[in-house]
Amino acid sequence: MSSLTPDEQDMVRLVADFVDERVRPRVREFEADDIYPTELIEEMKKLGFFGLLVPAEHGGVDVSTACFARVTEELARGWMSLAGAIGGHSVISYLVRHFGTPQQQQDYLPRMADGSLRATMALTEPSGGSDLQGMRTFADAEGDDLLITGSKTWISNAQHAGLIGLLCITDRSAKPAHRGMSVVLVEPGDGLTVSGKIPKLGYRGVEACELTFDKMRVPATAVLGGTPHLGWGHMMRGLEVGRIQVAARAVGVGQAALDDALSYAQTRESFGKPIWKHQSVGNLLAEMGTKMRAARLMTLDAAERLDAGDRADMEAGMAKLFASEAAMQVALDAVRVHGGYGYSKEYDVERYFRDAPLMIVGEGTNEIQRNVIAAQLVARDQKGKN
Ligand SMILES: Cc1cc2nc3c(=O)[nH]c(=O)nc-3n(C[C@H](O)[C@H](O)[C@H](O)COP(=O)(O)OP(=O)(O)OC[C@H]3O[C@@H](n4cnc5c(N)ncnc54)[C@H](O)[C@@H]3O)c2cc1C
Repeated sequence: MSSLTPDEQDMVRLVADFVDERVRPRVREFEADDIYPTELIEEMKKLGFFGLLVPAEHGGVDVSTACFARVTEELARGWMSLAGAIGGHSVISYLVRHFGTPQQQQDYLPRMADGSLRATMALTEPSGGSDLQGMRTFADAEGDDLLITGSKTWISNAQHAGLIGLLCITDRSAKPAHRGMSVVLVEPGDGLTVSGKIPKLGYRGVEACELTFDKMRVPATAVLGGTPHLGWGHMMRGLEVGRIQVAARAVGVGQAALDDALSYAQTRESFGKPIWKHQSVGNLLAEMGTKMRAARLMTLDAAERLDAGDRADMEAGMAKLFASEAAMQVALDAVRVHGGYGYSKEYDVERYFRDAPLMIVGEGTNEIQRNVIAAQLVARDQKGKN
């Protein structure tokens, strides 16, 4: 928290209070029925959470990435789905802010800042999310327009998004394929079908859907930044923020699991003493606390590196890899500490256990993170030797 300004620290406290007072008391109700949390989203809009990465001149709150990570963590501590509701939106605000044309910034950022326009990002296709070079969604030039054809799947917030940051191929002949990709800013309309919710293990309340583009016509000016074929580089920068966001979500879920386990271990007794005094349970708590502290520090370190203007793909990947695996383990250990009650809907730990795996898979699986990390370790090592 030390790198945060006093205003940013106030922001994090505001979110923590919102979570404790408004979210935690009602989360089981929203979760159980898989209801979109409209009321909470409206409150989040008013509190400025959708404008965290939007510059003040466009109406945003404009906090550092480190503050954004802490806010995300707090939201996920209450309910990971709420952090998910600002995830893709924040990546697209970051992209429009840094790479958008002045017109795109003027058209979108003020409405993204107040949450009246919510965005999502669409990369994954039914045939694969890891191998993006093999994507089959095309935006072909026709006069002053682009005609979009193809499908995306697992797109979070798709039914509530008024703006889709679509990664697609705008030059079919480019080799390698990423040299012919663009991010196209698509507003839903004729030619786009959004499916119903894909049923899922956790991350309930917020929908994930398939998008089908059938010769959808958009103006060529919808390409992010106005110049086609730069989308891969743009999206890779955006994913640095996205991976920090996912790491922070994992820290929030893991912290909630630790908090609940800690509390339960002090009140539940066996053999005449609180269970934390049995060395096996105490050791579990010690490991859980250590993992979550390390995960938070790695996440903030990646965020600070990005804020300093440095390349942060390796650090963001490491934070996402470590924090998500830690959160999964901590969620499982929280179930252990709760014994049979850990398996019951009466306690929140079963939800953490269902929510944690998403951070292992989302924003690039952890296997893909390892590939990115290894490649960067080698590249930086070789650079150091030149
Ligand atoms: C709830 C939810 C919400 C999501 N929201 C979004 C969203 O808003 N926008 C979006 O674009 N996507 C979203 N996704 C999709 C997510 O990013 C992908 O699921 C993920 O990138 C993996 O792609 P895949 O599912 O096609 O798996 P695949 O790419 O088919 O991979 C399957 C397995 O093979 C492994 N693998 C593949 N290639 C390699 C390799 N080269 N080296 C090592 N291992 C490899 C993977 O790690 C994985 O274990 C979401 C997913 C979920 C579950």
